Amino acid sequence: MFYNSTRNSTVKVNSAEAITQGISADGGLFVPESIPALSLDEIKAIGNMNYADKAAFVFSKYLTDFTDAEIHYCTDNAYSTKNFETESIAEIAHLFDGTYMLELWHGPTCAFKDMALQILPYFLTTSAKKINLDKKIVILVATSGDTGKAALEGFRDVEGTSILVFYPEDGVSPMQKRQMKTQEGSNVGVCALKGNFDDCQNGVKAIFTDSDVKAKLDENGMMFSSANSINWGRLVPQIVYYISSYAELVKDGAIEAGDKINIVVPTGNFGNILAAYYAKHMGVPVNKLICASNINNVLTDFINTGVYDRNRQFYATVSPSMDILISSNLERLLYLLTDRNDTLIKEWFGKLAADGRYEVTDEIKAKLKEEFCAGCCDDEQTKQTIHEIYEKYSYTCDTHTAVAVKVYEDYKKITGDTTKTVIASTASPYKFSAAVLEAVQNGKSDLDEYAMIDKLAELSNMPVPSALADLRNKPERFSDTIVKEDQKKYVLETLGI
Ligand SMILES: *Cc1c(COP(=O)(O)O)cnc(C)c1O
Repeated sequence: MFYNSTRNSTVKVNSAEAITQGISADGGLFVPESIPALSLDEIKAIGNMNYADKAAFVFSKYLTDFTDAEIHYCTDNAYSTKNFETESIAEIAHLFDGTYMLELWHGPTCAFKDMALQILPYFLTTSAKKINLDKKIVILVATSGDTGKAALEGFRDVEGTSILVFYPEDGVSPMQKRQMKTQEGSNVGVCALKGNFDDCQNGVKAIFTDSDVKAKLDENGMMFSSANSINWGRLVPQIVYYISSYAELVKDGAIEAGDKINIVVPTGNFGNILAAYYAKHMGVPVNKLICASNINNVLTDFINTGVYDRNRQFYATVSPSMDILISSNLERLLYLLTDRNDTLIKEWFGKLAADGRYEVTDEIKAKLKEEFCAGCCDDEQTKQTIHEIYEKYSYTCDTHTAVAVKVYEDYKKITGDTTKTVIASTASPYKFSAAVLEAVQNGKSDLDEYAMIDKLAELSNMPVPSALADLRNKPERFSDTIVKEDQKKYVLETLGI
């Protein structure tokens, strides 16, 4: 299997190169040249494997330059009960009549990002070895909150790597901030940026493709790679749990093999839902992919109208990991939907960079509507949904997941569709305890962050993840804040070059 760039289809690299480079030199994203197909029997068989073996099976289709031993080295290290609080790794909870919660947050940082970021360091260091890269890998991360911590935790003290994370100063929850500021490890750095997530991400993308910076790193025996979902090594692990959840539902008798399901994904950078799209096109029977957004609803408008327009007010919401106006992975989807038309992609994403807006063709609009449905909700509706689910089903969900539940309920009302449905549950409610507690008890709380967690534990009857409980006693190590103009300088200074 080779990988092409969305902005130049003639670029052709293997997976080890795609993963170490992160993003193509032309600014495009790496995409596998075809989507491997699985038969229904193969999908069913996955239901009988443990999670590491499930993942290894899927990776063997994409990382064809890796040996079996290399793949198993990665999966066995990443997906074990050393790192995850449940044996199944991705837990499925039955919420109500035919609706299932795919809980992806039982990893070390309590968000679904762990599913990919626990394995990415192994992918990266293995890839670097395979292509005889004898350079230190520098990971630069822009985070809307969860990626940063998950990447720090994944890369901490991994030999031959160092990691630097930028987060929007006022754009993450207090718990997320505290998780990052207290990060342990000798190869880690954390910095706040005055601006929003898009500022962080644009800055990181610009530094990645800056030839000056690249030359400086080269001279010093270093190279950049990315832990953001622009890296294929981030995306491919996310395909696994969609295939796995289908196989598990068949195994449990909830569906018959061949029955279609809907998949609902609370979406920001479009990585998680793109993985569901890949799972579908590998052979998982999917009816609709439902893209749920908060009030930063640029994707809802795009899927419904074919016009992508980021020129709009940016809102800080109670689901901050979805406060994004430029969804990077949409580029991969559009590349696939246009039958790999790199000229069109360059044109559209050139317009996005220049004017913040582009409009796709009628043919693509039709394809989008055929595969996807989209909806959004505001903070009030999010909190109301948390409250209702808590009251009706004694289930406590986080703010991002609640957006997905609300959008799914709206979808059901409008369409009358009764297809069984999997909702991606992307974070532990404890990670956003202020908003969740306010929602559950119908009123703001004046408790401090840790007292809120205790209160939530009492009300929800769910154990507090130890990773969050332990934060209480950890000292803060990182307190830098910079303006976006200084980001490049800061990176070079931190690396000492
Ligand atoms: C990152 C994140 C999302 C959005 O996922 P994308 O892949 O960026 O679309 C949703 N919920 C939570 C909790 C997240 O951390």
